[in-house]
Amino acid sequence: MSLAGRMGRLGTETAFSVLAKAKALEAQGREIIHLEIGEPGFDTADHIVEAGCRALRSGQTHYTPTAGIPELREAIAADVAGSRGIEVASEQVVVTPGGKPIMFFTILALVEEGDEVLLPNPAFPIYESMVNFVGGRPVFVPLRQENDFRFDLDEFSDGLSDRTKMVILNSPANPTGGVLTPEDVTGLADILRERPDIFVLSDEIYSQLLYDSPFTSIASEPGLGPDGRTIILDGFSKTYAMTGWRLGYGVMPGWLAEAVARLQVNSNSCTNAATQYAGLEALNGPQDGVKEMLTEFRARRDLIVAGLNDLPGVECVTPQGAFYAFPRITETGYEAGELADLLMEEAGVACLSGMGFGRYGEGHLRFSYANSRENISRALEQVKEVLQSNRS
Ligand code: PLP
Repeated sequence: MSLAGRMGRLGTETAFSVLAKAKALEAQGREIIHLEIGEPGFDTADHIVEAGCRALRSGQTHYTPTAGIPELREAIAADVAGSRGIEVASEQVVVTPGGKPIMFFTILALVEEGDEVLLPNPAFPIYESMVNFVGGRPVFVPLRQENDFRFDLDEFSDGLSDRTKMVILNSPANPTGGVLTPEDVTGLADILRERPDIFVLSDEIYSQLLYDSPFTSIASEPGLGPDGRTIILDGFSKTYAMTGWRLGYGVMPGWLAEAVARLQVNSNSCTNAATQYAGLEALNGPQDGVKEMLTEFRARRDLIVAGLNDLPGVECVTPQGAFYAFPRITETGYEAGELADLLMEEAGVACLSGMGFGRYGEGHLRFSYANSRENISRALEQVKEVLQSNRS
């Protein structure tokens, strides 16, 4: 008995395997500080939880339309239109269990065997996994610390070929916390306007987790809206601390939305009904929780960046968005995977090797600072002790 050959091309997300390893150590009585998993670490706001409970009690326990309940699709269309300054019809919105299925479905729907997909590296590993899975060819554009983990636009341009079918953008970015500046976005738009045959998958899941500048989307650029060839991926996991509810969406051309809904009906039928009502409340209800979370994340970011830069051999630039720090650790003398293992075993701190995000992630670790300031401080102390004792 064996798996289908295509399974050999499907990757994974190391955050989940490292989390499992940390949990196994905890089960043996070890104390581990979790800086590996990418979730806000706050509980969902009460008014959102209440809306989910109310929906269940009032009988929202059935299948919903495949692309989502009409009220939520409309609310998402209005929200995306307002935040990006574009026109969006609710027919362009597909609601999914988390933002991730939008990668799965759109790549499956659009990328043919042999097509090239241009994507950042290091990046969220599922992009590469999915492109490989469907027989496409990932072409990487490196993101370097020297350039604040932004694209070099010449390198981006050089990566395009006659076979390029799609480019993937992610700003603010996982794992680096890097952000495309407004100038980067217009530069990218100028390049892409020359290539109207290319789809753009713009992963904007961290669009509300930006510290020092307003969010800019490629979809706001003339000729690059979701009515043409851009797919906006966004959702509720990070913005509203709703990772476990599983609620995200894509905004895309209507014809593609129909195809994506067809993939959804063939796989999971629809998104959980009560979760969709909770999402409706998240969009329509008070937004104070989002602002408070951002203020707290900023304080955590400043704490972890200062602490990382204080470690021997570690150098960390200040991330502009999301909740990840991606320090360079080459001067410690360790490789990234080796150091991540050492920190888990000896410091009781779970973090990820940059290699889990692609080969340009070598020499870096990813720390998610979605943990309390107290735990972050404790983790930094424990890491410092291990680095110092292994040096001397
Ligand atoms: N896109 C990026 C860049 C992410 O980091 C994540 C989650 O970590 C997702 C998408 C998926 O989010 P969701 O939990 O809504 O599926």
